[in-house]
Amino acid sequence: MITGNFEYHQPSSVPEALALLSDLGDEARVIAGGHSLIPTMKLRLAMPEHLIDLQGIKELKNIDVSNGEVRIGAMTTQAELIGSDELFQAAPIIRETALQIADPQVRYMGTIGGNVANGDPGNDMPAVMQCLDATFLLQGPDGERSVAAREFYEAAYFTARDELEILTEIRFSACEGGYSYGKQKRKIGDYATAAAAVLLTKGADGSCTAASIALTNLADTPLYCADASSHLQSNGVSEDSIASAVASAMEQIEPVDDNRGPAEFKKHAAAIILTSTIRQAWARA
Ligand SMILES: Cc1cc2nc3c(=O)[nH]c(=O)nc-3n(C[C@H](O)[C@H](O)[C@H](O)COP(=O)(O)OP(=O)(O)OC[C@H]3O[C@@H](n4cnc5c(N)ncnc54)[C@H](O)[C@@H]3O)c2cc1C
Repeated sequence: MITGNFEYHQPSSVPEALALLSDLGDEARVIAGGHSLIPTMKLRLAMPEHLIDLQGIKELKNIDVSNGEVRIGAMTTQAELIGSDELFQAAPIIRETALQIADPQVRYMGTIGGNVANGDPGNDMPAVMQCLDATFLLQGPDGERSVAAREFYEAAYFTARDELEILTEIRFSACEGGYSYGKQKRKIGDYATAAAAVLLTKGADGSCTAASIALTNLADTPLYCADASSHLQSNGVSEDSIASAVASAMEQIEPVDDNRGPAEFKKHAAAIILTSTIRQAWARA
């Protein structure tokens, strides 16, 4: 399968890319690693007449950790996320998640910006970003704005990003405590049948001082589970409270039948994967 015809543009700065997007309008799409966009173009699900390649924009490729804040440029690849010890110290859940995305070949090309901007409910990083309470920086014709990851996803492939905007950076606070990203999949390299991101902080007295839970591929958007998170924070982490938190999270999910299984199976898998992910995060806290 080959894609339809398109014109290729390679800007070297964000303003240049934004000018191209504004000039070319609806017919143009930005391309990052291409590992989500090119397959959809081969299937003719997307047929942009112009591709604006962000690979040449050096300012979009960076990882910076300072004063407890993490900043990741949109064009940072999944392999670079895995390779950064500084990032691992500040947010180990990112490496744990990135290692469960696809295979090394995809991870050498696929970018964090493409993964979170895509809006595919099967992508793993959006739920992690909601779990981290990350903020996405968008640049467009009217300047820069930021959108919380928890507010960004509207429906499958629909996000708060305007078509003329580029996602430039992701920011979040460095995390303390226990973390885990658990993913149930059919085989190595597959998208999630059900996955969960969990961050838990344990106080000196053994109480749960902070909790954050988000889910992947169990609805048409990633799901931040506010009630389940507060339940653990208010009641502590025990087998009983985990069961209640999981039951609360399961009320939010809306899986559909597809080639990864019927919805009922996915609900079953989701409860198991969330239970084990909470247990692991707490054991590490
Ligand atoms: C075999 C295979 C298995 C995979 N398995 C998984 C998996 O298990 N988990 C997972 O999460 N992903 C998986 N992926 C997807 C992979 O991680 C993609 O690389 C990633 O989702 C998209 O990143 P990209 O850089 O390739 O983006 P692209 O494909 O270049 O772009 C994706 C979309 O985002 C838009 N976009 C990209 N960057 C920006 C930006 N900076 N600003 C605004 N819009 C932007 C593009 O216009 C496009 O619409 C898999 C891919 C393949 C081919």
